[in-house]
Amino acid sequence: MSYTGPDFDPPQSRRFRRGPLTVALAALVPGALLGWAVHATVGGPDDDGGDASTSAGVSASASSAGAPSAGASPSEEDAPDGADDTDGRRPGPSPDPGSPSASSPSASAPAGTGPLKGKVVVIDPGHNPGNFQHTAEINRRVDIGTNSKECDTTGTSTDDGFTEAEFNLDVAHRMRALLEEQGATVKLTQDDDRPFGPCIDERARIGNEARADAVVSVHADGSGAGNRGFHVILPGSVNSGAADTRAVVEPSRDLGERIAGNFVRVTGNAPSNYVGGRTGLVTRKDLGGLNLSTVPKVFVECGNMRDSKDAALLTSGAWRQKAAQGISEGIVSFLRG
Ligand code: ZN
Repeated sequence: MSYTGPDFDPPQSRRFRRGPLTVALAALVPGALLGWAVHATVGGPDDDGGDASTSAGVSASASSAGAPSAGASPSEEDAPDGADDTDGRRPGPSPDPGSPSASSPSASAPAGTGPLKGKVVVIDPGHNPGNFQHTAEINRRVDIGTNSKECDTTGTSTDDGFTEAEFNLDVAHRMRALLEEQGATVKLTQDDDRPFGPCIDERARIGNEARADAVVSVHADGSGAGNRGFHVILPGSVNSGAADTRAVVEPSRDLGERIAGNFVRVTGNAPSNYVGGRTGLVTRKDLGGLNLSTVPKVFVECGNMRDSKDAALLTSGAWRQKAAQGISEGIVSFLRG
């Protein structure tokens, strides 16, 4: 719902809508060609038709320079999934039906060795399992440069109560293990080690202060049933107050394109059928976690927790491992150039 907002960057979006998508993504991420082509074939109608209206709406409102759209929930900050974060379907504290496994950090690579030696990756698991108990704290508004947003949000969940916060942490743990195996220094913005948050401005600050070579915020979406697939959210170009993404827009796009391509290749899943014109890429200017970043950063929405077929994937530990691998291989590709 909120995806019809102003958060796409029109020129860049057009770039990705212009040609056949198979060509577009294949050109960007050659390694993804095979997987992409397969899923483009089975993924239904071409994006051109449905996307046109989105593009027009975006263009019409993009002149507001990053202001939140009229239709977007004001509380969706850093919950690209936020449309459904605020729809009253959020669960209470819930048991985790799919206990994450294989989530402990790998000890297989001695620190300081491997192809990513010297590289710093910050993983930002979206939301926090404790946010449900700290609504007053997370509703505090923080400055994101372009405007103010809630400190943090609860995130969504599957219909069965598997929370997005738990999903995000599990994928983050798996990514950490994979990236440490490559020799990277990995830091998480939160590891269920604080009662709530951190706030979105702090999440950005953690990546900045770590001088991270790449930051990835991990999420799952909360859209309508029938909406399926992953997408990567790229920072739009903003320069307002504390927000100045101009230097990181291009490297973040490179990072995001590599993640999208590798996600398709490793999971075998098609990109989102409801945002991004089936490119798996969406540009937004309303997310504080992106606006305040001074290092390359993207969000990954791994799937839609409110769609039963996507939920079946998201609740599978084996699938989460593939998702983590796809994202991590995109990061590795980016860092190795
Ligand atoms: Zn989220």
